[in-house]
Amino acid sequence: MGEFELIERIRAAVGPPPPGVVGIGDDCAVIPTDGANDLLLTTDLLVEGVHFVTEGLDPADLGWKALAVSVSDIAAMGGRSRYALVSVALPAPRTGEFADRLLAGMRECAERHGVLLVGGDTTGTPGPVIVNVALTGEVPRGRAVMRSGARPADAICVTGALGGSLLGRHLRPAPRQEEAVAIVQGGSVHAMIDLSDGLSSDLGHVLDASGVGAELFADRIPVHPDAHRAAGDGRSALAHAMDDGEDFELLFTLRPERAESLERTGVCGTPVRRIGRITERRAYRMLPHEGAAAGARDVERRGHDHFRDA
Ligand code: ADP
Ligand code: MG
Repeated sequence: MGEFELIERIRAAVGPPPPGVVGIGDDCAVIPTDGANDLLLTTDLLVEGVHFVTEGLDPADLGWKALAVSVSDIAAMGGRSRYALVSVALPAPRTGEFADRLLAGMRECAERHGVLLVGGDTTGTPGPVIVNVALTGEVPRGRAVMRSGARPADAICVTGALGGSLLGRHLRPAPRQEEAVAIVQGGSVHAMIDLSDGLSSDLGHVLDASGVGAELFADRIPVHPDAHRAAGDGRSALAHAMDDGEDFELLFTLRPERAESLERTGVCGTPVRRIGRITERRAYRMLPHEGAAAGARDVERRGHDHFRDA
């Protein structure tokens, strides 16, 4: 069974959330409060041997990343991160210098993104290093941007450039918090997700949740220089941009007029590229360029899946 099928089974067993609550299936849970903001909740688990290896690793990078991936999920709802609980399972040899550097990297990420570390849990273990971060965030009431809101004729946009992050960028991901808040404040944003598994899979989640299809334009995908460097391993630079994980850029859908203006201006100094459009027809296709009459192909979801790729 794939990771996503297992999550789907958990979702079915748990049942639907009460009205006003967004439960399993988006980047974060959304909980209404009495105040002006809704509460966002997310958690992420990093396991040695699965998400990282300790040889050659700077534990500060691990600490940064363990928090940054959750900040990215809060950003994907259009929110700002607030409070974190940090839990670690450490083998005895890792409780000294390793633990200190882990915390230092995490504090650096927390400071950068306005997060307060307010608690957690600590245990020894005979097994691998495990780091878990649970994070809250906030978004103005009713303004959280879900995966499920994409509408036919929306433009599909991404921030930054994609692919090849394993060459080094994945060590210190830069979650797009300020960009997300600014993009949503500008209005007309219908759906958003952060790119953690890879564009082909993550856009697939938006299409599934929204009940729509998409046309991507191959000549408009922003291919990172690292994707070009990674190419030549049997996969093209475009394939790396489509399928590599850990970009932690934002993908969002919105009114086409606004997409064009965002593409001209960028956001918070970060480029925005319009890469395709949402279609009513539930096909998921790649065209060589916008309006191309020939050369369309189906997009395969080759992004990361923990059980399939394990
Ligand atoms: P992301 O890549 O954005 O962190 P995931 O693929 O990890 O998202 O999770 C997708 C959705 O499934 C999220 O809403 C998450 O809260 C939920 N989820 C994942 N694992 C579990 C679990 N074991 N129990 C309940 N919900 C889960
Ligand atoms: Mg996410």
